[in-house]
Amino acid sequence: MQIIKNPKELQDTMLDLKKQGKKVGFVPTMGYLHDGHVSLIRCAKSQNDVVVVSIFVNPLQFGKNEDLDRYPRDFERDKSICEKEGVDYLFYPDYKDMYPEGFQTYVEVVELSKGLCGDYRPGHFKGVATVVLKLLNIVCPDNAYFGKKDYQQLKVIERMVKDLNLPINIVGCPIVRETDGLAMSSRNNYLSKEERQSATYIYKGLLEGKKLFQSGEKDPKRIKEAVVETIKKAPLLKEIQYVEIVDKDSLKPKEVVEPGDVIAVAVFIGNTRLIDNMEL
Ligand code: AMP
Repeated sequence: MQIIKNPKELQDTMLDLKKQGKKVGFVPTMGYLHDGHVSLIRCAKSQNDVVVVSIFVNPLQFGKNEDLDRYPRDFERDKSICEKEGVDYLFYPDYKDMYPEGFQTYVEVVELSKGLCGDYRPGHFKGVATVVLKLLNIVCPDNAYFGKKDYQQLKVIERMVKDLNLPINIVGCPIVRETDGLAMSSRNNYLSKEERQSATYIYKGLLEGKKLFQSGEKDPKRIKEAVVETIKKAPLLKEIQYVEIVDKDSLKPKEVVEPGDVIAVAVFIGNTRLIDNMEL
């Protein structure tokens, strides 16, 4: 596995590989890899000749009072996971090379960045879209892999790729969960033992909502109530930011729930903000 820090060096390497007719798969991450990331890497391995993983904690997508400084990092561990999974190139750029002095160009996917997390994390999706576009331009992949765990992010990126005519196929991958249902996340690392236990109510809540829908309920208010009531049982719950039932493509709230709609939630367990979702 080759580790490359310089964006230009990676871009030149990738353009060379493309000339040789290699199919390139790309998995962008912020590191502190877990089995959710590994599932994306494995999917990329199975569909491409060459796999690139990036590790970059992108300051642009963090708000002022968010967890940029304490975001978990362990490059050596990430490196050995990537090696074990047969990753070909690990891109690990420095901030100064991604955002050199004078940087002033941003991308905004206007409507899909509103609502859900967009309402609570102003500027977040602008930061995400900007860094992902940069990464896609550096790596020039045929396929890029994103988890449905970050559902709104996936939709924002799909839209950006379509709107800006990028010749890249975006692959959305299923959410990988712990055995008790908690969606894997680098941020789960923040949770104390008791908070980790409380966090299981998020998945339980989503399951309750789905169960109600499957029993014939189509009123989003009733389904949301069932989700909220279950999540409220979490002993260390601090705040439910939102529970919404949205259209899977537009992310607009639904008035009548249909198969394929998505229940999306964001909650604070202690000081840790966790998101999750479930397709109905
Ligand atoms: P992150 O490092 O958190 O920015 O995530 C990098 C990529 O991994 C994103 O496309 C995420 O959606 C995806 N991802 C994170 N957690 C999971 C999970 N539990 N299951 C599937 N994909 C995930």
